[in-house]
Amino acid sequence: MTHCRPRILLSRCIEYEHCRFNRGIVTSREIAELKPFVDYVTVCPEVAVGLNIPREAIRLISVNGEEHLVGSINGYDITRDMMDFSERYTKELQDIDGAVLKSRSPTCGIKDVKIYPSTGKVASLGYKTIGFFGRAVLEHFNAIAIEDERRLTNFRLKEHFYTRIFTHRRFANLKKSPSMAKLVEFHTNHKYLFMVYSQKELSIAGRIVANHEKKSLGILLEEYESAMTRLFEKVPRYSSVINVLMHIMGYFSRDLSSQEKSFFLDQLELFREGKIPQSSLVLILKSWIIQFHNDYLKKQYFFEPFPHELASILDSGRGR
Ligand code: SF4
Repeated sequence: MTHCRPRILLSRCIEYEHCRFNRGIVTSREIAELKPFVDYVTVCPEVAVGLNIPREAIRLISVNGEEHLVGSINGYDITRDMMDFSERYTKELQDIDGAVLKSRSPTCGIKDVKIYPSTGKVASLGYKTIGFFGRAVLEHFNAIAIEDERRLTNFRLKEHFYTRIFTHRRFANLKKSPSMAKLVEFHTNHKYLFMVYSQKELSIAGRIVANHEKKSLGILLEEYESAMTRLFEKVPRYSSVINVLMHIMGYFSRDLSSQEKSFFLDQLELFREGKIPQSSLVLILKSWIIQFHNDYLKKQYFFEPFPHELASILDSGRGR
């Protein structure tokens, strides 16, 4: 399977430049692993609004119920500059399939950002918020996967993120020179991948492609993309993965011996118990696809939603 290259918005201090307030850089194994397979679009909003490296740390403070972005000691206020920059930048940014922003940053953070009552040595308030730039990205790009580098260290969130960004890029490429035939092919080849995520949204997507109401292709693409966005809202459950694995095994039920079937079902049980990774079962199914020449299943992105080199890293001893 050949894979396209997603374009990912990235906080520049992650793996790219020593642009943190203290000249620091954030290392991220996940961002480094992904580098050969994606195109990163990097940005440091604090530098973009004119701050130096190094600089005083920035923090969020609450003033009369309003959030401000200020220097943590001297209190210089960059709220307006950051809002203007964030709005302009996100408006101009095109063709993005996902974003990874620096965790907990008052500028880039997408969750868990501390907020203070004032500058200086004071304890943070009892709730967390979102960074200014992070908020703009979340508001502007509601159909793409947006994560921070800390969350990506979770195996399942990472796999979910990879699946989303590569699927989004495949669909974005389809939209560049769309046709009904391409949409049907896209839907067909993603059937089992989508089934893992949501049977309900898969059916809705199927009805969109069937197009009984004879809608224009432009409307169908919009509706299909919305269905995909809803479908990818949550990480799939193991029970859904098992359901799809069983479903696919059904294609070979007449070709397999009873020993082969019971071996597969035993492996499925081990997967259910968290003792072996999904990739072990996928390998068995792939071998049957080759052995029994099933061209339909060969094209299913369920087996390889993102480059297999990333999958092998994902399964190397962490998670399942
Ligand atoms: S968190 Fe964002 S603003 Fe802060 S250094 Fe990193 S890229 Fe720049």
